[in-house]
Amino acid sequence: MKITKVETFVLSNQLKETFFFSQWAYSERRIFIVKITTDEGVVGWGEGYGPADMIKAGVNMVTPLLIGENPLENETLWFKMYRKTLDFARRGVLAASISAIDVALWDIKGKTLNQPVSVLMGGQHRKRVVPYATGLYFSESDDLRSKLVAEAKTYVKQGFKAIKMKVGLSVSKDIGMVKAVREAIGNDINLMIDSNHAYSLREATELARAVEQYNIGWFEEPVSPEYYHHYSALRTKTTIPIAGGECEYLRYGFQTLLENDCVDILQVDICGAGGLSEAKRISTLANTRGVEIVPHVWGTGIAFHAALHFIANLEPIPGRLHPPDMYIEYDRTENDIRESLTSPSIEMKNGYIDVPHTPGLGIEVDEEVIRNFSAEILI
Ligand code: MG
Repeated sequence: MKITKVETFVLSNQLKETFFFSQWAYSERRIFIVKITTDEGVVGWGEGYGPADMIKAGVNMVTPLLIGENPLENETLWFKMYRKTLDFARRGVLAASISAIDVALWDIKGKTLNQPVSVLMGGQHRKRVVPYATGLYFSESDDLRSKLVAEAKTYVKQGFKAIKMKVGLSVSKDIGMVKAVREAIGNDINLMIDSNHAYSLREATELARAVEQYNIGWFEEPVSPEYYHHYSALRTKTTIPIAGGECEYLRYGFQTLLENDCVDILQVDICGAGGLSEAKRISTLANTRGVEIVPHVWGTGIAFHAALHFIANLEPIPGRLHPPDMYIEYDRTENDIRESLTSPSIEMKNGYIDVPHTPGLGIEVDEEVIRNFSAEILI
């Protein structure tokens, strides 16, 4: 079996309503997708997390290493791509290029061997996971607090057991919003907060201590990803578990987070940090230190399903008769590409999403949707 073609796509959709978080505003969803074709007609799909046009350039750069090679040897191909990019991009966007290809190769492997990716990764420790709603972004609203409260109540009505909200406007504004959302959703729903590294250690400590009373599931990216020592210091100053890792790349980057005891919950992004192959290695590192993983997920059904298989395969830490449910991040912000690109559509039943048992990632990609959202390339 040989790889015959690697096709890259940048998809774009202008949003009806701009939303923002502590760092930037979103008025467009811009997404990178890769399709890998083999001489036996089997096709695999992957997705990259990050600046789509740059990820596309990275995939084009490593494509000559893939053409004519056996897609089932995905780890040797991973290493070749890594070695090709190592001198220029030990962290960042080229890791996302490798990630997209790696996910597509796993999809091919699953379809070829007629097995779900999670089974080929070693097996499914669980058959279903609990999606948490990612939403509650900021917007230009006269009454942001009421808007967030209404949105949070919608998630509760839809059956979500956990919700993550943005913080990072200012410590005092955040405290008011967290209080309002907690009061609106009651005490049975898990509530997490995410500042996207908006704060200094002093501010993050102040916010964490002030919202401890609202029973916060985790505080995500409280401080800059560059300040590993601030992450570990914050963990000693609050009872709220600390989460992070969506800006980290490859096993070597995650090793630094782990060695410094930075987080309680490690958030590897499969489509950014090195693909399913590297995420599996990172999970072994985390496991040796007893650190939980809840992957960061942002994108289409391709990224979501890659995460579903990865989570299904995660070994429970520690093992026990009744291990707790595991979370998957489920972005609920406006995204027409996500809603239409893949089938079957993602379905939540009684607060759970089933792990697919069909071959590969377990999805079909609608190429008509790719044509409809096809973007002009920026670089
Ligand atoms: Mg985040």
